[in-house]
Amino acid sequence: MITPIHQHSLFWFRRDLRHIDNAGLYHALHTSQKVSLVFVFDRAILDALTNKADRRVEFIYLSLKELKDALRAIGADLLIVHAVAAVAIPQLARQLKVDAVFCNEDYEPDALARDKAVASSLKENGQDFFAYKDQAIFAKDEVLTQNARPFSVFTPYKNAWLRKLQNGHNDFYSRAYPTEKYFDRLVKSGSLSSSISTSKMVLENVPDLTQLGFVPTNLTQMALPTGMSGAQKLLNNFSEQIDLYQQQRDFPWVKGVSYLSMHNRFGTISPRHLVRMALARQIESSSLGAQTWLNELIWRDFYFAVLWHYPHVVSHAFKAAYDILPWRTNQAARVDFELWCAGKTGYPLVDAAMQQLLQTGFMHNRLRMVVASFLTKHLLIDWRWGADFFAQHLNDFDLSANNGGWQWAASTGCDAQPYFRIFNPIIQSQKFDAQGKFIRRYFPVLSAFSNAAIHAPWTTPAMLQADMGCVIGRDYPAPIIDHELARQRALAFFAQVKQA
Ligand code: FAD
Repeated sequence: MITPIHQHSLFWFRRDLRHIDNAGLYHALHTSQKVSLVFVFDRAILDALTNKADRRVEFIYLSLKELKDALRAIGADLLIVHAVAAVAIPQLARQLKVDAVFCNEDYEPDALARDKAVASSLKENGQDFFAYKDQAIFAKDEVLTQNARPFSVFTPYKNAWLRKLQNGHNDFYSRAYPTEKYFDRLVKSGSLSSSISTSKMVLENVPDLTQLGFVPTNLTQMALPTGMSGAQKLLNNFSEQIDLYQQQRDFPWVKGVSYLSMHNRFGTISPRHLVRMALARQIESSSLGAQTWLNELIWRDFYFAVLWHYPHVVSHAFKAAYDILPWRTNQAARVDFELWCAGKTGYPLVDAAMQQLLQTGFMHNRLRMVVASFLTKHLLIDWRWGADFFAQHLNDFDLSANNGGWQWAASTGCDAQPYFRIFNPIIQSQKFDAQGKFIRRYFPVLSAFSNAAIHAPWTTPAMLQADMGCVIGRDYPAPIIDHELARQRALAFFAQVKQA
C-alpha cells in the first residue's frame, strides 16, 4: 500500500455508477487520506431534455439510490448535487478544500469540453483534476495500426485489440481495481465522512424524479433491473446461455442477447468484468458464443476510438465524399419520417421494431440495422435525423455506438456496409422473425395472417384481408414505398458519390 499523497480528494461519479472495480475511484482511494464522493444531476444535460418521462433519468435515479445505500452500508456516503456540473464541481471542491478531483474519462465531445472547463477552474484554485480510463478496455491511442494511425476497419482493429490484451499490456488480467480494501482503510480511519454539512448545495438524499423536473416512466414494469445488482442479475442470466449467443442473437423474439447495454452506458457494471467473463468462457469451453459476444464488446471500444480520433463524425459523414449526398428534406420526406418514427411504414418488421423502441426504449440490434437501413436507403432520409430520434428514445443511447451504427447502416461510416447492399425488409422479416412472433407481439391486428403472409400483408388478396378482420390501408398501413422501386432509387442516389 503506497503512502497517500493527497490529504483530501473528491471523486466524481458520472457514467460509472458503481463503487466496485472502478478505476478512477480506486486511484482516488489509494492516493488520498480522505475521500468525498459526489454525483451531480447535471442541469446542463437534464434541463435540455424535452421529454420529462425519460427512462434514463429514472434508471440513474434508481441506480444512485442503490449506490448510496451500498456506500452507507460500508460506512461511506454519497453527496448529491442538482446543478450545472461544470460550475458545481469546482465550487464544491473549493468548499471541501480538496487537493484534487478524480473521475473517469468520458470521450464525448461535450463531456471533454466540460472536463476541460472543470480542470481549468480547479487549476486556478491550485487543485488537480485526474481522469482515468474506465469505460473502455483500450481507449484513445492504445490500439493503433503499425504506422501509428487509428484504425478505420473493424477486423484489423479487433485483431490488434486482442493481441494487445494477450500481450498483457493493460495489466488487464491482474487489474480489477480492488476498491474494497481501500474503503476499509478509509472507513476505519474515519476519512470517508459525508461532509454534507459543509456545503449548502449538497442534498441530503437522492432527490425524487419530480424534484428533478421528471415523471416516472414504465421502467420498473419492464424486465430491466437497475443498479449494480440489476446488472449482475442480467449477467448471471446471460452467462447461462452465452454459448448460444452466436445462434440466437439475431432473433428479436428470443432472449438471446445480454440486454446489458443500458448498464454499460451508465457503468453499473465494469466492462473489465464482462470481458473477463467472456474470455474465461472461451477458454473453458471454446465457446463460439462467448467469442462472438466479446467481439461486440470490442465494437464498443472501436466506436469509442472512432469518436475520439474523428470527432467530425458527430455531424458529418466519416467518409467526407458522402457529405455531398442530397438527402430528401422536403415536406414529403418529413411526412415519411413521421411515419417511420411512429412505426407506420406498412412494413411489419420495421413498424414492430419502432414500437419496441417507443414502448420500451430498447431495440434489438438486428432491428436497429433494419430500421436504419430503411430510413436511409428506402426513404433516402438523412442518417442524422434517425440518429437524433434514437438519441431521444434509446435507453442505452451512446453517442459513439449510435453514430457508428447509423453511419454503418447509411454506408457513410468507417467499415460501413457497401451502399449497394440494401436490406430487404421483407426478407429480413422472413429470416429473423420467420413465424411473425415479434410482429404479432406489437401488432395483434396482424395476428390472423399466416406465418408466410405476415411479412408483406398487402400481398394477401383483399377479400381474405376482410375475412381476417385486417384490411391493409384501413386497419394496418399500406407500405409507404415499394421495395424494388426504393432499391433502384437508392442505388442511383448513392452512385452520385462515385460519379462525383
Ligand atoms: P449484446 O448483444 O448482449 O452485446 C453486449 C454489449 O456489447 C452491449 O450491451 C453493448 O454495450 C455492446 N455492443 C453490442 N453491439 C454493439 C455495437 N454494434 N456497437 C457498439 N457496442 C455494441 N449500442 C449502444 O450501446 N448505444 C447506442 O446508442 C446504439 N445505437 C445503435 C444504433 C444503430 C443504428 C445500430 C445498428 C446499433 C446501435 N447500437 C447501440 C449497438 C447495438 O445495437 C446495441 O449495443 C445492442 O443492441 C444492445 O443490446 P445488448 O446489450 O443485448 O447487446
